[in-house]
Amino acid sequence: AAKGEGRGCVRTFNRSMMLLIEQRESLRRSLRLALERRELLLEYQPLLRSSGQIVGFEALLRWDHPEIGRITPNVFIPIAESDGLMEEIGRWVLEEACRQAMTWPDSLNVAVNLSPAQFLGGSITDVVAQVIDSTGINAGRIELEITESVLLEETVDNLDTLNTLNVLGIRISLDDFGTRYSSLSYLKNFPFDSLKIDKYFIQDIEKEHKSQTIARAIIAMAHGLDMMVTAEGVETAMQARWLINEGCDILQGYHLGRPMSAEKARIFASKARAPRRRRERIN
Ligand code: C2E
Ligand code: MG
Ligand code: MG
Ligand code: MG
Repeated sequence: AAKGEGRGCVRTFNRSMMLLIEQRESLRRSLRLALERRELLLEYQPLLRSSGQIVGFEALLRWDHPEIGRITPNVFIPIAESDGLMEEIGRWVLEEACRQAMTWPDSLNVAVNLSPAQFLGGSITDVVAQVIDSTGINAGRIELEITESVLLEETVDNLDTLNTLNVLGIRISLDDFGTRYSSLSYLKNFPFDSLKIDKYFIQDIEKEHKSQTIARAIIAMAHGLDMMVTAEGVETAMQARWLINEGCDILQGYHLGRPMSAEKARIFASKARAPRRRRERIN
């Protein structure tokens, strides 16, 4: 901005800062009530094998705010985290997602995101066991997605938790792989079933050499470690073709299916080709 506008800019900046802070405060207050007012809901995005066969859905949280409208999780989950609400919300998400999955053919899996707060609270294994019990879902159909930030502290407790979940038959995948504090040591020490390549590496994969090299390396490493690989954020046919050609196992993205309502997911699921039910590790 020109120098003469300096004062005005500062005033505008302060005002928009104030607005942001006020908004955040008001969001914080209404988020506390959102769960009981049933303003939280889940959408489901299909996960497809490279053959085109549907593997399951990832449950994605949304907030239908009565005045603001639909709010993305990237905005309200950090608030929920810092307000200590994420354990309760996360428990609801897991139960609701499993309840929905029980309306799909039982060959289909459900993937649920876990936040660091849920994981560090220490009760996640109990919560999972309770949800399996209350919904009657086969544990083998549940996949929990965690991000690298959950594992920043590579503690014995974390390892214990993951192993307990593994023993229950739950699959664990590492979400947003490659974007943050990529330390490879936990790939050696934790029993992951799959890696999800972050969409950051997918967005220009058909034309950009660096993204290609990184994606190829992640796929090779995951397979060498006996893990499945999912690509997220697949938006074009060319990206899909490139990934399938490189041996990526599962694809997720707008090109294959947008996140959809529970009702639409149920219809989508019912049209799934019934696969032979083998015990195999699918994402
Ligand atoms: P995520 O787990 O990596 O989920 C994938 C995100 O990418 C979703 O954003 C999805 O809508 C979006 N996406 C899918 N396909 C495409 C595509 O082709 N192009 C682009 N540009 N984006 C695509 P969403 O739903 O906004 O969720 C954002 C993040 O919020 C999630 O990232 C996850 O980290 C978090 N989140 C969502 N639901 C939950 C939840 O129930 N619990 C927790 N703890 N976190 C959640
Ligand atoms: Mg995820
Ligand atoms: Mg992700
Ligand atoms: Mg993400």
